[in-house]
Amino acid sequence: MSKISSRTLLFTILTTVFTLIVIDLYTWNHTRTFLLNGIRQDLHEKAALSLGLIDDKALENRDRVRLKQFTDEIKNLTGMRTTLIGKQGEVLADSEIPIDELNNVENHLNRKELQQALRTGSGLAIRNSATIGQELLYYAEPIRENGRVIGFIRFALLYPEFRNRMAYVTGLIARINLFLIVVVIGAVLLYWNWLTRQMENLRTPLIGQKEAPDYQMLPDQKYEEMDRIKADINAIGEKLQIAREELVSDQQLLLNIFDSLDEGVAAFDFDGLPLLNNRSFIDILKLKDGADHTRPFYDWVHFPPLIQDIESYLEKREPIKRRLKYYGDSFIEYKILPLKFNPREDSGFLVTLRDVTQLQQLETIRQDFVANVSHEFKTPLTSIRGYAETLLSEMAEDRELRKKFLEKIVSRTEHLENLVTDLLQLSRIEKNEITTIDRINPIPDIQEVAEEFMHISRSRKMKFDFEIMDFEKDIFIRASANLLHTLLSNLIMNALQYNHPEGSVWLRIKVEHEYLRIEVQDTGVGFTKEQRERIFERFYRVEAARSSYVQGTGLGLSIVRHIVELLEGKIEVESEPGKGSLFRVEFPII
Ligand code: ADP
Repeated sequence: MSKISSRTLLFTILTTVFTLIVIDLYTWNHTRTFLLNGIRQDLHEKAALSLGLIDDKALENRDRVRLKQFTDEIKNLTGMRTTLIGKQGEVLADSEIPIDELNNVENHLNRKELQQALRTGSGLAIRNSATIGQELLYYAEPIRENGRVIGFIRFALLYPEFRNRMAYVTGLIARINLFLIVVVIGAVLLYWNWLTRQMENLRTPLIGQKEAPDYQMLPDQKYEEMDRIKADINAIGEKLQIAREELVSDQQLLLNIFDSLDEGVAAFDFDGLPLLNNRSFIDILKLKDGADHTRPFYDWVHFPPLIQDIESYLEKREPIKRRLKYYGDSFIEYKILPLKFNPREDSGFLVTLRDVTQLQQLETIRQDFVANVSHEFKTPLTSIRGYAETLLSEMAEDRELRKKFLEKIVSRTEHLENLVTDLLQLSRIEKNEITTIDRINPIPDIQEVAEEFMHISRSRKMKFDFEIMDFEKDIFIRASANLLHTLLSNLIMNALQYNHPEGSVWLRIKVEHEYLRIEVQDTGVGFTKEQRERIFERFYRVEAARSSYVQGTGLGLSIVRHIVELLEGKIEVESEPGKGSLFRVEFPII
């Protein structure tokens, strides 16, 4: 790139040289004309004097001898070579040429000085004399008679003075030129130096800011032009600073959003070096040390299937999606996709991750559930079918047997009905499709359930005891009468079912630490600690219970647990095989 300094210098020198040439030519020409005019004036006077001395008759008669005498005389007087020329240009006499040689002298009519003299009254020319081989100055004037040109008088003189004077003038001009050029170049350099310093005053603080995070305003400048540039740069700097801050805050916002995603995302370049990743990526992969941005993924992602998939993606560039068992019980699902900074080419690859442990568990639960439901339905259906087929066959004639089989069919059908009812109830509770939960006083509803079971237990010859521990005022909990009814019925029914004949059941209500506590206790068969862990599972039934209470579905306690969760309560169980069980439910009083 060309420099302003060199351009300025070149421009200044060219302008100066051009100006000097014009001035020089003008000066030189004028000086020359001035000098020549002086000479012309002097010679004109000499010519006028000489012509006063000329013998007109001799000129008329072309008396060469007389005319030669005249030219010699004039030469003696003036010291200049004198020539008389006829009006046709023929040389009549010359102080330097003998008369007999005059015929050999060529015609002078075309000589510059003569032509000029004809036009303007006097002619001056400087040229090399072929005769003496030196530069001579020629001056000619016409000789007139009655206004007619009858000839010319011409002086020729060696005029080294003129040359010397012109040489002096030329030398003077050259020195002045040199001086001016040196002065101009010096001035330009000094000026440039000064201007550069002014620019540096602006540039130096700017250079310092190249790496700085924030823009620092440039200081005020001494000169107006520089100060205007400073103001412009500051305005741009300020604008850039604002744009940068906006960009940073936008980026921060995006990073926050990116970080709060449940899905893990990481971008890698083709060497496998991470460019960006969010927190979920680290959390889902359980990377204790986080992502190492200086090393490729295979150094810190310790999951061989993912590493293999990334390698295969890098080879084939085909997106990959996979769900796999990760460490422990966790499952992850990942996708490997192209990373594009522009639509035309890939810049690396993206890995997105999801923790699908819960989803996988739900899937397993769903599969188990379908298997369990099918199983629970299959047993009664198989026996119904068996009894029905037997009825259709030979035994159908036996009235007693027919009755017995039909009763079995009814009982199995009841069981199926129970199953369907319980399943529907469970699904409604799970889906939250239940009557609205309100702030209610639960005591009247509990009393109602207690009365219902009082009758049932009496008909079974079992003891049922209902106790309300004294509390003075009304209490309120978040519940619905329906849900309370279902919960208590299930617990009390179990207490009656899994009990000894003539066993006892207690229903106790008390208020403790801002909680309403409901206890259902029995003197029944109880269950072991291991069984206690599982009784709330769907379809779980203690083996012995299957024969003692055939109509059971294994869903009752599941329903109880869901209701307790829905009403934000707690449930605890104590039990000892052969001695009895205690179910304790607590709801916060509001
Ligand atoms: P179901 O009573 O229909 O079998 P539940 O979910 O209500 O189903 O109970 C699951 C299992 O827990 C029962 O089959 C039974 O083995 C056991 N169980 C429940 N309540 C009691 C209890 N009070 N005493 C002894 N065992 C019980």
